[in-house]
Order: sequence, then structure tokens, then C-alpha cells
Amino acid sequence: MECKKADYHVHSIISPDAKVPMIEMCESAYQKGLSEIVFTDHYEFYAHGIKSQYFHDEYIKGYFRELEKCREFFDGKLLLKSGMEFGQPHLEMEKSKEILDQYQFDYLIGSVHKLDNIDLEKLEYREETVHNIAERYYLELLKLSEQGEFDCMGHLDLFKRHACRHGFPDEFERHELTIRRILKNLIERGKGIEINTSGIRQEAKEAMPSLTILKMYKELGGKIITVGSDAHQPQDIGADFDIAYELLRLAGFDCIMSYNKREASAVFIEE
Ligand SMILES: [Zn+2]
Ligand SMILES: [Zn+2]
Repeated sequence: MECKKADYHVHSIISPDAKVPMIEMCESAYQKGLSEIVFTDHYEFYAHGIKSQYFHDEYIKGYFRELEKCREFFDGKLLLKSGMEFGQPHLEMEKSKEILDQYQFDYLIGSVHKLDNIDLEKLEYREETVHNIAERYYLELLKLSEQGEFDCMGHLDLFKRHACRHGFPDEFERHELTIRRILKNLIERGKGIEINTSGIRQEAKEAMPSLTILKMYKELGGKIITVGSDAHQPQDIGADFDIAYELLRLAGFDCIMSYNKREASAVFIEE
């Protein structure tokens, strides 16, 4: 099985939660035989007009400076696309539009990482709180699916990363209807989803979203999918892509998307 190997979800030292320079991430991608990667460093938006110490104009400028250096260095060896992972862009629609007017990205992920400005990772997962967290997560994701600016939704069932870490189930059945509405919104708005393989190497031990959600997306008429490792470390670039491609096939997809200046084109997954 040989696929066009493009990792559409990679972080570098630009992201506040990553420590490895872009050039080292590129080196790893090149060594692993990938043809293309997108650096989707974080850009978080906050509720109640809260301003962040990280996410501002200079942050994005720094991102493009690093990317240009890597593009020169890996010219002809590795295709480097520009991107961002927008967290909660629906909370600051004006600001996110302003950024997109000012900077041309190839690809944008839209994610929910925070509930009322607190990272999902930092919430307390207990018997008494876990249902409420799941409910709030999926409702926030529903809002993002209705009005956020992005190309593909990131790690759709991210709740399970944290729930599983604390020994709780993914609560898919409880939120199946909301998930269905989220997928319908994405399809109506011409937006896609990603298969994020980080879940496979974490406690959940499966990709985000699950095969069940991928099948639901297919059944609803979804066609737009990318595959990303969500690597914050060189060794995780392109990790478990064989599993991701197998999931795609099992769900009935034969294409993934490649993005240029936020225009998607389909690429066949080769046998
Ligand atoms: Zn994320
Ligand atoms: Zn990420």
C-alpha cells in the first residue's frame, strides 16, 4: 500500500505547547518519506474579549518567517504548506476574519480546546462532572460548526482524549444527535473533518474521530477529509497513517484532500 503521504496537522516550537523547531520537524518528515506537511500551529480565541499574551500579529509573522526558512532549506524535497489550528474561532469572528484578510494560509483547522477559556485538559473529570463536560464540549463544537472560519474540523471527538485518560467512556451515544448535527452543518458549509491519529498513541487508543463517526459522515454525504498526526514531537509525524488510511477505506472513502490557498482538491488513496 503506497499513499500520497501528507501530514495535515503538525505543530512546531511556534505553538506555546510545542518545543521542537520547525526545521527539526521538517527533517523528521523528510526522513520518514512524507511528501507534504502543513504546520498548523495553534492560534486560540477567547470568550469575553480576553486577550492572550501569545496570540497576536507578531506570533503569525514569526510563524511565516520560520516557514520561509524551512521552505528554502527543503526546496524540492518536502512541500511545506501554511496553516493554523484555530481554537474557538467562532468566539471572535471579527478577529479571525481580520487575520484571514491579512494572511494567506493554505489550510485551516477549526478546533474546540477550551470551555469558557479553560483548556479541556485542565478540567476536573469526575463521576459528577464528566457528563456535563461532554455536553458542553459538543455544544461548543456545534456552535463552531455553525459559524467558525476554518477548512476542516480538528479531532472531532476530542472529549474522549481526556475522558479516557481518567477512565471514563467516550459518551458517543449520549451525544450522537449533536454529532450528527455538527456533521450536517460542516457538509452544508462545504467544510470537512480530519482523521487525527494522536488518539491512537494516547489513552483512547483510537483515532479522532472514531470509525463510527467517520461512517456517519460518509452516510450523510461528507467528502472532505484530511489526515493529520497532531505531532508536537518529530517521532510522531506521520504516525499511524496506515491505520488512518485503513479507517478511510472501511468508512468508504477513496480520496483525501490537498489544500492550496484554502482550495481543496481530491487526491486518490492508492491501493
Ligand atoms: Zn487541537
Ligand atoms: Zn493540534
